Amino acid sequence: MRIALRIGMVCAAGLLCFVAAGCAHSGSIAGSQISAAKAAEAGGGPKGLELLKEGNQRFVSGRAINPSTDAETLRVAAEKGQHPFVAVLSCSDSRVPVERVFDRGAGEIFVVRVAGNVTSKNETGSIEYSMEALKVPLLVVMGHTQCGAVKAACAGASLTPNIDSFLANIQPAVQRVKASQPGLEKNKEAFEVAVIEENVRQTLRDLYATSPLIREQVSTGKVEVALAMVDISNGQVSWLNEVPRP
Ligand SMILES: [Zn+2]
Repeated sequence: MRIALRIGMVCAAGLLCFVAAGCAHSGSIAGSQISAAKAAEAGGGPKGLELLKEGNQRFVSGRAINPSTDAETLRVAAEKGQHPFVAVLSCSDSRVPVERVFDRGAGEIFVVRVAGNVTSKNETGSIEYSMEALKVPLLVVMGHTQCGAVKAACAGASLTPNIDSFLANIQPAVQRVKASQPGLEKNKEAFEVAVIEENVRQTLRDLYATSPLIREQVSTGKVEVALAMVDISNGQVSWLNEVPRP
């Protein structure tokens, strides 16, 4: 029995070594997911923001480690459940690969994507779910350069009733920039850039306006909020100041 026990212990130790080595060599999803979750737990939203900034630095400098992107990570995440450390509300634009620009993987980012990174009941409900059920400590609303949805809203486009629905959500940002920077509209490109940025803030205001849960989570400090802008030409993420509070 003693021998059997010893063999069992050796096997267990070997398995641990194997798992640890796998994590170290491949940056396996399982390992990084656990460390990301623990880091987020330890530092809450601010630590999560650091993880995103570090990941984006790696991505833009060509040093991405692509953590948590293998099948084994998915298997572990399916078995143990998801523990994302951030919820990101982003545009559907195919040039905005959220996990990749932050060099994170499966089980780490709760992504809500919709054209124009606007919010209506379904998106707001998804963010609420990330906070209520998954205890995500950080929310990021992210816009991007050359956003077609924002450009269409700036041009006052009308396409289909469903498209017009999300364009209408961008209009408050269009109007706000017109009012705060009179004359800017003459410079189409500068105007669109300003609206893209303002639209990110507008979405956060809309989340506050329509969700008592999100207001409560942010105002009590349970959830940190950050606003981001990604340059689709290189994946560089910049962080906006003037983040609206509830
Ligand atoms: Zn877009």
